This record gives sequence, structure tokens and C-alpha cells, in this order.
Amino acid sequence: MKKRPTPSLMMGNYAAVPGSGPTDKVCLNCKHLVRDTCRYRCGQYKTIAKREGRPISPQTPACRYFEDRAEKISTP
Ligand code: SF4
Repeated sequence: MKKRPTPSLMMGNYAAVPGSGPTDKVCLNCKHLVRDTCRYRCGQYKTIAKREGRPISPQTPACRYFEDRAEKISTP
């Protein structure tokens, strides 16, 4: 069953509405996720909004801009 995003996640700095992408994927699997020391940001959000977004949860359901990452990101 697909996890529904909470309202607070939907207001975060995601490229598109969380959960609007592939059902079995999360941001951690996306090549647009950027690791910033111990936080994660959406690189696609920065491309679209032309500004750095706030940190996001890597476990957020993927959005429609999701692109599969070839290599895995290590989690702290
Ligand atoms: S799925 Fe990718 S493009 Fe979409 S919000 Fe997550 S990291 Fe950003």
C-alpha cells in the first residue's frame, strides 16, 4: 500500500508533490537527491525554483520528477 504524504511533507521543498511518482520509490532512490553533510536536499527543486530548498526526508514517497539512481547513497 502506498504511503500517503503528510501535510507537512507536502509543504516542504520538493520538486513536485510527494507521492506523485512511482509507487514503490522514495527520494533516497532518486538521482536528484543531494546529500549535504547529514541532511538531504532535492536538487531538482533547486533547478526549478532557482534557490536552495530546505532539507527533505529521504524516505518521502517519490515525486513525478523521480529518476532512478544508479548507485546507492549511504545513510548516516
Ligand atoms: S523524488 Fe527526486 S526530484 Fe522528487 S522530490 Fe524526491 S529527490 Fe526531488
